[in-house]
Amino acid sequence: MSRVYNFSAGPSMLPEAVLRKAAEEMLDYEGSGQSVMEMSHRSKIYGTIIQGAESLLREVMNIPDNYKVLFLQGGASTQFAAIPMNLMTKNKKADYVITGQWAKKACAEAKKYGEVNVVASSADKTFSYIPKLDPSTFSKDADYFYICMNNTIYGTVYHELPDTGDIPLVADISSCILSCPIDVTKFGVLYAGAQKNMAPAGLTVVIVREDLIGNAMDITPTMLDWKTHADNGSMYNTPPCYTIYMAKLVLEWIKNEVGGLDKMYELNQKKADLLYNFLDNSKMFRGTVVPEDRSLMNVPFVTDSEELNAKFIKEATEKGFVNLKGHRTVGGMRASIYNAMPYEGVKALVDFMAEFEKNNG
Ligand SMILES: *Cc1c(COP(=O)(O)O)cnc(C)c1O
Repeated sequence: MSRVYNFSAGPSMLPEAVLRKAAEEMLDYEGSGQSVMEMSHRSKIYGTIIQGAESLLREVMNIPDNYKVLFLQGGASTQFAAIPMNLMTKNKKADYVITGQWAKKACAEAKKYGEVNVVASSADKTFSYIPKLDPSTFSKDADYFYICMNNTIYGTVYHELPDTGDIPLVADISSCILSCPIDVTKFGVLYAGAQKNMAPAGLTVVIVREDLIGNAMDITPTMLDWKTHADNGSMYNTPPCYTIYMAKLVLEWIKNEVGGLDKMYELNQKKADLLYNFLDNSKMFRGTVVPEDRSLMNVPFVTDSEELNAKFIKEATEKGFVNLKGHRTVGGMRASIYNAMPYEGVKALVDFMAEFEKNNG
């Protein structure tokens, strides 16, 4: 068996220990004589899995009791509509900050349901920075304030949160969930597609303050109303059973093998520092994001030549560094170095980049 270093933005690498455990338990989960894939979601044994996943997530992320954790389907993209339907109900108004494609899509969806105020955007420079926010430009009567915390495509992250006072802050944390500690109390809603940093595709996690549940618009489909799922322990219908099980294994790995989110954050900083330091000292490669807003998870970089970019990607792939091609709107390369990417993987990539620079400089 030979495994590659997979720098995909998502779905992405899972910790090898997690994959091994899943393989071990594939045919017979804890003496049940069944795979988790085959179980009734109403069975007692599956109940221990979904409850275990929730309590681990609460523990690892330090989620207060007045927040509900929902395990849903439909991807982060379905929440682009669920958020306005559940929240844009008092003044029918919301503030959005546009820091990339995902925020733009979420904003476009919200416009179907109410008045949207775009507070700031970094579109002028291909989303290579997080705009400075001036609270005097925020709507005083917004039902919520929306940000995309880590911008997967462009490689930026908020190091400082907007001060929205009593207005609930809503954040898409699809590509940074579990990468570092987050103060959940600062948010009304946090949500994430699991396939970047948490589990295989198929699961969306929504963490929502209890007082924000139960006010959905009348037109809201039953399946998009957070209350439906909060009232039924994410079991109104069949949940993404196996993906929830995988998320539980990943959470056990973070808690027991890594040692929690502080440790995870340290490791992620070490990996990102290695790559950014190389980029800052290279004469051939450079990062595309302003240093103060750099993401720890997604690192876009370029050379000055399309030809060289293509050659680099081709040779890297041959060496087992796969999925390094950048998003079509940025070009060049992007290395996604989520939790499951080991330090050795980033080290090997940097060594390869140095060699490539020497041979082609
Ligand atoms: C990948 C991604 C999405 C889209 O997620 P889906 O689960 O495919 O809908 C949304 N937001 C961010 C920040 C992402 O990285």
